Amino acid sequence: MKIKTRFAPSPTGYLHVGGARTALYSWLFSRHAGGEFVLRIEDTDLERSTQDAIDAIMDGMSWLNLGWDEGPYFQTKRFDRYNAVIDEMLEKGTAYRCYCSKERLEALREQQMENGEKPRYDGHCRDSQCSHTEGEPHVVRFRNPLEGSVIFDDNIRGPIEFSNQELDDLIIRRTDGAPTYNFCVVIDDWDMEITHVIRGEDHINNTPRQINILKALGAPVPEYAHVSMILGDDGKKLSKRHGAVGVMQYRDDGYLPQALLNYLVRLGWSHGDQEIFTIDEMKELFTLDAISKSASAFNTEKLQWLNHHYINHMPAEEVAVYLAWHIEQQGIETRNGPELKDIVKLLGERCKTLKEMAQSCHYFYQDFSEFDADAAKKHLRPVAREPLEAVRAKLAAITAWTPENVHNAIQGTADELGVGMGKVGMPLRVAVTGAGQSPGMDVTVHAIGQTRSLQRIDQALAYIAEREAQA
Ligand code: GLU
Repeated sequence: MKIKTRFAPSPTGYLHVGGARTALYSWLFSRHAGGEFVLRIEDTDLERSTQDAIDAIMDGMSWLNLGWDEGPYFQTKRFDRYNAVIDEMLEKGTAYRCYCSKERLEALREQQMENGEKPRYDGHCRDSQCSHTEGEPHVVRFRNPLEGSVIFDDNIRGPIEFSNQELDDLIIRRTDGAPTYNFCVVIDDWDMEITHVIRGEDHINNTPRQINILKALGAPVPEYAHVSMILGDDGKKLSKRHGAVGVMQYRDDGYLPQALLNYLVRLGWSHGDQEIFTIDEMKELFTLDAISKSASAFNTEKLQWLNHHYINHMPAEEVAVYLAWHIEQQGIETRNGPELKDIVKLLGERCKTLKEMAQSCHYFYQDFSEFDADAAKKHLRPVAREPLEAVRAKLAAITAWTPENVHNAIQGTADELGVGMGKVGMPLRVAVTGAGQSPGMDVTVHAIGQTRSLQRIDQALAYIAEREAQA
């Protein structure tokens, strides 16, 4: 049997982390089994579905690199199919027209509430030989079995049983002719030959209804796996306050999709105590029975830790592709500076996110006319003039511009002046970067380039001269 899974988001908002994790699990399960993965947009709720949300879902899936083999299907484009099945069901008697008025249903509901019963349809039109004609306003209801129960063996939670007495006759087509949500899901899972439905636990209650309809249609019943919720680190439902935002916000904040995927796969699934998984490892190792039944807590620090890991362990060329986007956002022109893969190597250790990296690499590409006030006050003092002049002369004399030769120039200056490296390195750092923090001076000065470094040292010397004049 070919394994086929699907991700079926309702486009009523962003692709948030919970949805992305469900998508990842469905995708991984199909990839693990050499099967197929379908993307289906469940846009039957016309009022709440938006094109922006559809775009956000597609963008999120693409950014995460969760490719699909079929789709995207849109439920709103399949209404003819749903209605054809409903008509067949009416003919066969597995569904029936219900003419009950709103008032009748409301009165019934109130009565049941008063009696302390759960509100449910009483089957009034189920068997009545009523005198209504098809043209009169009506809904179509599914003829749910009255006896027995629905049992399914959830791949994560084990056997789950619902008594049919708990389930009333679900409306499958509204008065306006529109098929309803649960019915569309059933027909889609059937038509798309889905073998494994992996989705959020908020759909557990829909499952027995869907199974009953599938059975009435003579359709195969897929396997089900309901994934637990993601909570904030305070144990409360995940919300924006916890950083639960659309996945594209994680791109904007400087996360690598590889890091987010690794984070999401571990959020509710485990393989021993391994924390780092390449995509290939995830595909190889992923199984449904290793998914946890309990809710998982979102932890931003761990996500940051993973991001830092990926920034430093993925090939710098690959990280550079993602960094390029952030560099562009910052409006930095990189043509006349180091390659981005070198920036990744230089700044990776110091940065948890690519946004941070893009924000702290300006001095490799852009000249500046002002120094960080504190750093300049501390390190561009008159006493720094001599070491800066000396190191400038040595840097100017370098014919082969390599980090080693830059290192020797700095070291040689310190040795000749009989001072520690810091007395040369710190003024030089502030001179060439404008600030008091950067990677090692040899690699930094090397990456900034010879001409630029000399110009910036001159600028720092002018600053010191001005300061001397004012003293
Ligand atoms: N459209 C549903 C949702 O976004 C998912 C339905 C399903 O996976 O069966 O929650």
